[in-house]
Amino acid sequence: MFPYGRQTISQDDIDAVTTTLKSDWLTQGPIVEQFEQALCQRTGASFAACVNSATSALHIACLALDISAGDIVWTSAITFVASANCARYCGADIDLLDVDPSTGLIDIEKLTAKLSLAKASNCLPKAVIVVHFAGQSADMVAIKRLSTQYGFKIIEDASHALGAAYNDKPVGNAEFSDICVFSFHPVKMVTTAEGGAALTNNKVLAKKLALYRSHGIEKIDPHKNPRQFPPWYYEQIALGYNYRMPDLNAALGLSQLTRLDKWVEKRNAIANRYNQAFSSQSAIEPLSVDDGLVSSFHLYVIKVPAEFREPLFINLRASGIGVQVHYIPLYKQPDFQQFNLPTLEGAESYYQQCISLPIYPNLSETDQTQVIAIIQEQLALLYAA
Ligand SMILES: *Cc1c(COP(=O)(O)O)cnc(C)c1O
Repeated sequence: MFPYGRQTISQDDIDAVTTTLKSDWLTQGPIVEQFEQALCQRTGASFAACVNSATSALHIACLALDISAGDIVWTSAITFVASANCARYCGADIDLLDVDPSTGLIDIEKLTAKLSLAKASNCLPKAVIVVHFAGQSADMVAIKRLSTQYGFKIIEDASHALGAAYNDKPVGNAEFSDICVFSFHPVKMVTTAEGGAALTNNKVLAKKLALYRSHGIEKIDPHKNPRQFPPWYYEQIALGYNYRMPDLNAALGLSQLTRLDKWVEKRNAIANRYNQAFSSQSAIEPLSVDDGLVSSFHLYVIKVPAEFREPLFINLRASGIGVQVHYIPLYKQPDFQQFNLPTLEGAESYYQQCISLPIYPNLSETDQTQVIAIIQEQLALLYAA
């Protein structure tokens, strides 16, 4: 079976984890700090807080931005449930944004119209969680302009987009957002097994992120100790969580990160080969990527005529291709019914046609050629039927 995505583990990765296993630190220690510094270096952000998942990173991002009951948070209708659940953990209400079906990204025109309506009825969002779908950055300049106009905070859910570039700068530099979040789940760009990070340029937010990931406990530097605490003293100053990333996982991430650029290149080469193979086939429409951007191609998504999507999905799975659908619109999820969310036109159109194909650094050219041939054959069979 060719999965839609999978991790790539080298002997260096194994050695890095083994070395850490023999060190004094298993849970959060010096390697987590090194990994955080490496993430800042790679992205250009000033601060990074590593945690045990992107879901946790999104949660502490919401907490750091003081999202709480009575607030409204908007995110894309086409995303993983965690992009919305993070705000729900804080007691906030959720509303969903429609996407442009040609990219899967938030539709900026519709966002603009929705903000104007929300302002008129006094229900503007406290924050918008922007998803860089499949590895392509959303139009952050436009979203930042709207945030200034309407006064909402921006969290980037860049779970798909480590290694991507926007305006010739790395995604993750948080230039146009308050906080940017990455996932290190095995199918994502680099892995720590489970893991995530929240990046920011704001020192106050950075401090809050560090606080919420570890019980809300503040360590007191004995050298800057105005109240003359005893040397064993610590204080819980907020209700935090244990979301710490272990050093073992950070060692894997740090080792993986050295190969990120190579992997982004490889994923782009795979995407180009798919694009080329499908260019003469009107029944297959790959998601479009803006010329000025570098997608990290976490996902490679095609759209096929809606009536063929399910049979094609079933037949490809039966032929050993582990296709997937990213994602079922959030408003269809039973647990989101309580928010009375409307069906959205762009999200519906996208959802009825999308299929994610195998893309990962170790997918060989021979394997990809086989995958392409099977897709073309199965689609031809459906047309002939
Ligand atoms: C994977 C993913 C997450 C959650 O990541 P975890 O590290 O598994 O918690 C959140 N948002 C998006 C868009 C994702 O793809």
